[in-house]
Amino acid sequence: MTLTEQLVPDSGPADDRTAALTKKAADHLWMHFTRQSVLERDGVPIIVKGEGHHIWDSHGKRYFDGLSGLFVVNAGHGRRRLAQAAAKQAEELAFFPIWSYAHPSAIELAERLALAAPGDLNRVFFSTGGGEAVETAFKLAKHFFKMTGKPMKTKVISRAVAYHGTPQGALAITGIPGMKQMFEPVTPGGFRVPNTNFYRAAEAGGPADDLEAFGRWAADRIEEQILFEGPDTVAAVFLEPVQNSGGCFPPPPGYFQRVREICDRHDVLLVSDEVICAFGRVGNTFACDTYGYVPDMITCAKAMTSGYSPIGATVISDRIYEPFRHGTDYFPHGYTFAGHPVSAAVALENLDIFTEEGLNERVRTKSPLFRAALERLTDLPIVGDVRGDGYFFGIELVKDKATKETFTDAESERLLRGFLSGALFEAGLYCRADDRGDPVIQLAPPLTIGEPEFDEIEGILRSVLTEAWARL
Ligand code: PLP
Repeated sequence: MTLTEQLVPDSGPADDRTAALTKKAADHLWMHFTRQSVLERDGVPIIVKGEGHHIWDSHGKRYFDGLSGLFVVNAGHGRRRLAQAAAKQAEELAFFPIWSYAHPSAIELAERLALAAPGDLNRVFFSTGGGEAVETAFKLAKHFFKMTGKPMKTKVISRAVAYHGTPQGALAITGIPGMKQMFEPVTPGGFRVPNTNFYRAAEAGGPADDLEAFGRWAADRIEEQILFEGPDTVAAVFLEPVQNSGGCFPPPPGYFQRVREICDRHDVLLVSDEVICAFGRVGNTFACDTYGYVPDMITCAKAMTSGYSPIGATVISDRIYEPFRHGTDYFPHGYTFAGHPVSAAVALENLDIFTEEGLNERVRTKSPLFRAALERLTDLPIVGDVRGDGYFFGIELVKDKATKETFTDAESERLLRGFLSGALFEAGLYCRADDRGDPVIQLAPPLTIGEPEFDEIEGILRSVLTEAWARL
């Protein structure tokens, strides 16, 4: 019997259950970042099972998980040993905080993360997710400078269209206006600079014919912003190694080295927001290693446990930690569930899987093949650009390849929401069709996949994008 048959017996109970769940969802569930009207009108796909790089919906239909849930399930679904690690820890010690007391799994995980982090990033402050890790880094940057005689350093710089989470502090760092307007006034002090979208370099006003020159230009916009605001008022720069929102913008060669120099020159902390990019997504435990820079803090979450239990962390340099080592001062910040014993135990097991199966090496070796498979799609008239790194790629869709003309808001709405998201899912590929910047399709599959799956993804995208173009 196949798994699909097990999930959906010949009779109707599975469909009855789906109908009941659909009704309950419409009546009571408030989805995140989702139009509730769609839920109430059409219902919502209900995902009931995962195995490897596949997920199944409540009708028993199988899909390729091309987004690892939400950049999370890097080791793949259905890993019994991760579930067992969680159960073992829950039986032994289900919960204890890390407020004044500690427990072994948080201690072991802190050491493991510190050993994996570059330079002098030796101190780990746990949270329960990525937004809290960013919030922690923001608060810590301000607190650190207050303790070290630079109390005016409170502002933060980040890049256009970047997403850094939803708490009000993190929202000040998030660079997507449409996610902030309704919550104004958000925490003050957030400033934006251009991102590293080389495909649209000319529109941003940067050099469009030389990637390294574009990287220098983009890094210099950070220095310009620091100088505009006054170095004495700027605490930190928050950057993702590869910017997710907008569609996978990798750093041009030399970009981060120049940013590091700029930050050092003005005593501004460099925070590497690796909520998506850490844990193998671009071929290393920490993505700053992929691009050869040492930040002052790393924020991470998502794939630390491959999603089997939630956790986040801010990894902090000795320099920032130093004033907190002595005396009576402390960092008055924390979360009840931070460093949760079950999550920490699962994270340790997950990192063991990474080592045993060489997942980081696998990504480094196979990434060029994944890229090559996706680049075959550039023969389609709608595919303007394929970009990214590791197992993390974005495909930008355009109306006119020669001019790079993008879609109007109305066209984008029709294309992405009206057709592509549904058609890709219908064709068996769960991934993201996003228009927080220009319209892109994003892929971030589990790190366990290889050549046959790259071809499979390309095949599905080819047929759906061909149809999308015909409809346009
Ligand atoms: N930072 C980045 C770069 C992210 O991509 C995300 C979420 O996708 C966050 C922060 C927020 O993480 P969370 O949703 O776990 O709060």
